[in-house]
Amino acid sequence: MYDELTAFIQSWFRTEDFIPLHEPRFSGHEREYVLDAIDSTFVSSVGAYVDRFENELASWLDTRKVVAAVNGTAALQVALRLVGVKPGDEVITQPLTFVATANAIDYNGAHPVFLDVDRDTMGLSALAVQNFLAEHVERRDEGSFNRRTGRRIAAILPMHTFGHPCRIEQLCVLGKEWGIPVVEDAAEALGSRAGTRHCGTFGLMGVYSFNGNKTITCGGGGAISSAEVELAARAKHLTTTAKVPHPWAFVHDEVGYNFRMPNLNAALACAQLERLPALLADKRLLAEAYREYFSGCDWCDFLREPEGCTSNYWLNVIILKDPDKRDEVLAETNRRGIMTRPIWRLMNELDIYRNCQTGSLENARWLEQRVVNLPSSPRLGK
Ligand SMILES: *Cc1c(COP(=O)(O)O)cnc(C)c1O
Repeated sequence: MYDELTAFIQSWFRTEDFIPLHEPRFSGHEREYVLDAIDSTFVSSVGAYVDRFENELASWLDTRKVVAAVNGTAALQVALRLVGVKPGDEVITQPLTFVATANAIDYNGAHPVFLDVDRDTMGLSALAVQNFLAEHVERRDEGSFNRRTGRRIAAILPMHTFGHPCRIEQLCVLGKEWGIPVVEDAAEALGSRAGTRHCGTFGLMGVYSFNGNKTITCGGGGAISSAEVELAARAKHLTTTAKVPHPWAFVHDEVGYNFRMPNLNAALACAQLERLPALLADKRLLAEAYREYFSGCDWCDFLREPEGCTSNYWLNVIILKDPDKRDEVLAETNRRGIMTRPIWRLMNELDIYRNCQTGSLENARWLEQRVVNLPSSPRLGK
């Protein structure tokens, strides 16, 4: 079975060399724009490509404002702070995520509360959140408070795992009912939609990443989106040292961050964004080919996009029927030059987050034992 799978993947990517999980493709104006940024000498904190990228991404997402940032992690940190997360607060999130989601909460001095995910989306379960709020949380004038810890629940932070949209609309309804803002970690979900709307545009703020392994990349980069113009302006201010605009005077009106995206990276980002529709189309072809290949498979199921959603299929997922076979699958595929990977260790199992409150994590544990990622790069320009 491993030789057959290897042959299938090698023929898709038209190579017998090592096939990574996800590698970038530069098949458009990348070279041209980056050289243009260098020739302009504006490679750093200001430049036309940053503004252009922010405008073009906002237009693609069909939202009001986008603020570019140095990476997705920094963008998450700032977004949480701007929706009101303060030291000593709690933020509800999922344990099945990349560590940056939890770290961004900790950077704000707040505590993650890890609740379960849905099996079909791998994202934060609205039902788990609803049950937690009903059982453990008390609504007061000043906000919603966790009865066990006495702390305020300051945000709900779902993540769209591997580009599959979570039940974001239901989560936003709960957020509204309980007066808790929703921030979306859409780092993996650029181009994914729940219904017709883009992931990352449902919550008060949404965050994207353009790291080298993501759907589009600018080397390192991130962005915050928001339909609230004032909040976006605050995000721009806070990520650019909180400097009061002035031709020469250095006045900073709060302790800001140097979290801006350099113009050199923004040049690459603009070129990649132009290629996004083509990249997404090619990734859908691969997902469809995997779906067909694994249909009727006796040792795994291919994970399809949730109903009513369009996934970007950033990383394709198979779910093993027998968790005891996982290490063999990983070893045999990697030995053949096909890079595969298990899902992350649950955040609450890391020493750094072991003491955090959790709900029942039945689905998260179930997925943790069974999920394997397959090579998912687009082929264009290779
Ligand atoms: C990639 C990623 C991030 C962080 O993005 P960086 O740009 O690498 O800082 C955050 N959350 C999730 C779920 C991610 O996959």
